[in-house]
Amino acid sequence: RPSTIDTSMPNAVELINLSCHFGSVRAVDGVSLEIRPGEFFSMLGPSGSGKTTCLRLIGGFEQPTAGRILLFGQDASRLPPYARDVNTVFQDYALFPHMNVRDNVAYALMVRGVGRAERYRRAEEMLEQVKLGGLGDRRPGQLSGGQRQRVALARALINKPRLLLLDEPLGALDLKLREEMQIELKALQRSLGITFVYVTHDQSEALSMSDRVAVFNQGRIEQLDTPKRLYEHPRTEFVARFVGSANVLEGSIIGLKGKYALRPERIRVQPGHHGGPGCLAGELLDVHYLGSQTRYEVRVGEQRLTAITSSDETDLPIGSPVTLSWDPSALRELEVSR
Ligand code: ATP
Repeated sequence: RPSTIDTSMPNAVELINLSCHFGSVRAVDGVSLEIRPGEFFSMLGPSGSGKTTCLRLIGGFEQPTAGRILLFGQDASRLPPYARDVNTVFQDYALFPHMNVRDNVAYALMVRGVGRAERYRRAEEMLEQVKLGGLGDRRPGQLSGGQRQRVALARALINKPRLLLLDEPLGALDLKLREEMQIELKALQRSLGITFVYVTHDQSEALSMSDRVAVFNQGRIEQLDTPKRLYEHPRTEFVARFVGSANVLEGSIIGLKGKYALRPERIRVQPGHHGGPGCLAGELLDVHYLGSQTRYEVRVGEQRLTAITSSDETDLPIGSPVTLSWDPSALRELEVSR
């Protein structure tokens, strides 16, 4: 467990049987969870699964239909956003276009009546922390997408909230920049020791940054675990598929009952058909060469399986017979999904 997590303090966030319904839509449907101070916590799920609504409930931008929200041990269920010790970074950044970067960042201090010299000093310090030193005079329109994202972050952090909510903050950035920012965000969160609650639909983003991840499906938490547990021990078919795109095997094709998750990278692919214990004969449907790895789509009876192996010199023609095998310990039995 990372050193920033303090177990002697009350939970930063506690949701107790929280629901938020819009008419007949159960956007959040009986969610309970606890987030510890200093934790980097992600809510992961497909579009419409309720993670944004859950974040907005924590921030006070949405009212619960039922249930309770505790922030740092205090009941905040009915508090307006400004009365919560929480800031939010929205996906569209919501910067003031007519203000320069320094004033954007210092805004929260101005509202609180902090003097000009002091707020500019702190804004400059914050800009240094997000690697934007010297850009204080620019307008948001004169910055790149990545730089605007950093301004939004600096602005949300300047009054040192105890809790920062982030709603897909890297969604507008290209892949390379996003990966750089993931590393920086995590480092920043560690050094500040602020609790982060991070919403994303990108499983690799959630796995790489988070201490723990809640996987949302249809307004409920399907599994809440560390990234490693989620990836290695998915409990349901939904989690197995959504986190790391596991194969879901019908046990019957390997002489077992129930359903099993099997990671593509745990499957070996060999040319030709040769029987043997633990081997399955299949037909190669497709091959994707990815550089260091190669992905194979293989039909086994009625099932389609994906295997990912380190690339080598082998060229397997599409339509050719192949044999799949794996170590039995790679199989994870799944609970029956809802
Ligand atoms: P996305 O990644 O697309 O933002 P999400 O997982 O964050 O999805 P939510 O935005 O929380 O999902 O939406 C959950 C459900 O609630 C969806 O069916 C959505 O259409 C609905 N919903 C959200 N906000 C409202 C609203 N203000 N009025 C009516 N329905 C809403």
